[in-house]
Amino acid sequence: MKNIKDTYHDSIIYLLLKSIAIKKSESFDRQKIESLQKRRLTKLLKHALTHSRFYKKYYNSHGITRENINKIELSDLPIITKKIMMENFDDLVCDSRLKRMELERFVTDPENHGKKFQDRFQVVHSSGSTGTPGIFVYGPRDWTILKALILTRVTKTKINLTQKQKLAFIGAVDGHYAGISLAQAAPSQLFEFLPLDINAPLESTLKRLNTFQPDYLGGYASGIGLLAQEQINGKLHIAPKGISCSADPLTPRIREMVTQAFGIDPINLYAASESIGIAAHCGARHNIHLFNDWHCFEILDKNHNPAKPGEFGNLILTNLYNYTQPLIRYRMDDEVAIDDHPCDCTWPFQTIKEIAGREEDFLWVETADGRREFIHPIVMVEFMVPGLAGMQVVQKARNSLTIKAVISGNQEYTVELIRKRMTQILEKKQLHNIVHFDVEMVNEIKNDSKTGKYKLIIPLM
Ligand SMILES: [Zn+2]
Repeated sequence: MKNIKDTYHDSIIYLLLKSIAIKKSESFDRQKIESLQKRRLTKLLKHALTHSRFYKKYYNSHGITRENINKIELSDLPIITKKIMMENFDDLVCDSRLKRMELERFVTDPENHGKKFQDRFQVVHSSGSTGTPGIFVYGPRDWTILKALILTRVTKTKINLTQKQKLAFIGAVDGHYAGISLAQAAPSQLFEFLPLDINAPLESTLKRLNTFQPDYLGGYASGIGLLAQEQINGKLHIAPKGISCSADPLTPRIREMVTQAFGIDPINLYAASESIGIAAHCGARHNIHLFNDWHCFEILDKNHNPAKPGEFGNLILTNLYNYTQPLIRYRMDDEVAIDDHPCDCTWPFQTIKEIAGREEDFLWVETADGRREFIHPIVMVEFMVPGLAGMQVVQKARNSLTIKAVISGNQEYTVELIRKRMTQILEKKQLHNIVHFDVEMVNEIKNDSKTGKYKLIIPLM
């Protein structure tokens, strides 16, 4: 049962109030943004020290308490990683109803797709392909603030209760992934919503889009790139008024194609499970601005010192709106660089260079009638089953794959889950009788000998 507070935080009224406040802060100067950020940080720290057993113990052991918190600088706090967060999950969250085991079971059961945990908490998970899968929970208030951020600064939705906007989203849609979770939470009073599975046969996607005619198109950059290509080829005929790309890199080539196909510039939204609205292109589109009214950002070099402006470093994130699962000085996998040259726009927010996101290869296979069909890399990036601690997909022949898997826990059971999930992916694409795969258990995944970097997908050369 929802209580009155939750009902209010879930309401369109709360969303509108938050959107107005977020819009207003766009006209603040830098100093005012910084003092707002500082106030929110102190409030969050007090909350965490009161309601999170983990933070209380962890910070106390570093001499940080509720009493001296006003004198503490962000850089005085110890950094946490996804591993630390997951290992201490039940103690870290500020609500005793949240248990890691139950949440993991919840997100992996297809019955629960599109549902909230206990009808209250929005749960998203990050990939299991590159190490520990992360679970991230947003309470009603946190989730609405996030939605208000996106509606105000990304889709730039003009609130009109008399006419709904049509919103289409292309990405991985069959799980609790960050992108789809947020897109399908678009308020039904304002939006009609069409989810498009990036892993569905392309023709059916085009048909659905041609019928739907979206006003706004959001999704994975590579998926939107594919649609742009089809629009140029004359198979897609839509005229969205706004486009935002996230998840995988919005490369100059994709940007150019989108502009050519739809006559508008796409907005690059930097989103992660840790916060699904970290930064975005402004109206002038020259720069990606960090939303530093609702986050604290630090960029650290290899020696853990603050990186110089322009220099890439590891992003340390503090999410200032999530009071359910506070992420304070949390190390992200992403590398970013401050690029503080002035922007034509009026936003007071710091700017960064383009995000050096990870680019993985498409797996191109052949259908029974000889057509080319692909398996999108994001499907593999977001491959998640309990017990899978690392993986790599190797294309041995055109229609034959080997999944190398590092497994922690019950091996037989996890392999069974991997098989099931992979079969599902192939079935969606109608490739299950054509593409074959085997699962090979390994102790570790070696980095690419040439680049020294980890590669999830090794396509056929
Ligand atoms: Zn700008």
